[in-house]
Amino acid sequence: MNIGILGGTFDPVHLGHLSIAKAAMDQAGLERVLFIPAGQPRLKQAEPSASIDHRIEMVRLAIGVNSRFDVSDIEAHRPGPTYTVDTLEELSIKFGTEADLYFILGMDVLGQLDQWKDPERVLKLCQFLVLDRPGEEVFDWPAFYRRVPEAEGRVQKVTAPLVDVSATELRRRASVGESLTGQVPDAVAEYIHKQGLYLKEREGRAAS
Ligand code: ATP
Repeated sequence: MNIGILGGTFDPVHLGHLSIAKAAMDQAGLERVLFIPAGQPRLKQAEPSASIDHRIEMVRLAIGVNSRFDVSDIEAHRPGPTYTVDTLEELSIKFGTEADLYFILGMDVLGQLDQWKDPERVLKLCQFLVLDRPGEEVFDWPAFYRRVPEAEGRVQKVTAPLVDVSATELRRRASVGESLTGQVPDAVAEYIHKQGLYLKEREGRAAS
């Protein structure tokens, strides 16, 4: 069984995430994709704005009735910063040797691989499915393989329609009351609005 893993902050989940999950599923023959919101992402500059419970709920709404997508709370309440290697260790025990794990990620994240905890072990536990992200510079593959030689043969490129959305921009839009329609699933836009998520960012900035 081929299982895709899409880790992220999902603050909030958006159509870019759904697009890369679908493309990875089709092109790599994945049976299912697990969306795994990080408790405390280690390489992000700021703490997540929405709580882990809100971020999990938004992913649940985004997935909707797609029976091949699932949300996992495996990283939700792990104390301290979240490390992908710990998640992969847990999942490889849970799914056993029958399962092959594929980590789905954008080019922006691949470029930071050498800053992850134990990238060699990560690359033993899973293969990578990598997608372009709008606005990213051309990826320097030779330099990447020089920095992380273990990645050789473990990274597969997947193509998806480019979706020019980032959670950072969505938080900014939500903080000033701009519409998120067309960038997140409708149910997620409604949830953000009803819960008043990201409005605090505006208050924080106004106060500073
Ligand atoms: P932020 O703007 O807060 O940094 P984000 O939009 O990058 O958030 P994450 O939850 O951090 O969202 O991303 C999870 C994964 O999805 C990462 O591997 C990231 O590269 C990928 N990703 C996010 N948005 C896109 C997109 N528009 N196109 C391709 N990949 C994306």
